[in-house]
Amino acid sequence: MTVAENLAVIQDKIKKACELANRHAEDIRIIAVTKYVSIDRAKEALEAGIHHLGENRDEGFLAKYNEIGNNATWHFIGTLQSRKVKQIIEYVDYIHSLDRLSLAKEINKRANRTIKCFVQVKTSDEESKHGLMEEEVIEFVKQLEPYTNIEVVGLMTMAPYTNDEDKIRRCFQTLRELKERVQALHLPYAPCTELSMGMSNDFHIAIEEGATFVRVGSSLVGE
Ligand SMILES: *Cc1c(COP(=O)(O)O)cnc(C)c1O
Repeated sequence: MTVAENLAVIQDKIKKACELANRHAEDIRIIAVTKYVSIDRAKEALEAGIHHLGENRDEGFLAKYNEIGNNATWHFIGTLQSRKVKQIIEYVDYIHSLDRLSLAKEINKRANRTIKCFVQVKTSDEESKHGLMEEEVIEFVKQLEPYTNIEVVGLMTMAPYTNDEDKIRRCFQTLRELKERVQALHLPYAPCTELSMGMSNDFHIAIEEGATFVRVGSSLVGE
């Protein structure tokens, strides 16, 4: 399947989820997660009209950035080791995995402009998922104030890999409620208007629950 063909299927699902939730499809941005695929396939995504590309490793990120450059908006979606920050910071537009103060400190130190960050939250009990616990998020966001190169644009989560839709939905609801609590703090550096949630198998549920960025890999560009 071409990326354009896959995209048409995904856009159709987005449209249906938006109808159910009374939302506008234009408010949902698709990040093509290209971590499994070649540079050519990433370029195909751009040609199909996707502007946002996501990578979860610094090597993959840099390999694609070197070819594509500023023709895309770049998202770093994976666990980020502090020592890798300096490699990507110049090129990245959004970091989806801010989950500790030591990382905030490093981003702040290495960046020479404001970096749009999502605070990653662990909304499920799956061991393999990273992020802050729900009850830690408010305090964490408050502690980011000194790091003036960081803007908290929103929250990010990964739902567990399961067929239990209610379980997935509850994770996304938790994230939306938390987002509203952060917004209510009215911190100038944390507008927190965005929700990065939903992947190939659950983006339709995420959209029903308020996602503004969905991160879609295998069903869009392939595995
Ligand atoms: C790989 C990955 C995705 C995309 O997953 P698919 O199931 O292939 O759509 C989304 N978000 C993160 C953080 C990822 O690592």
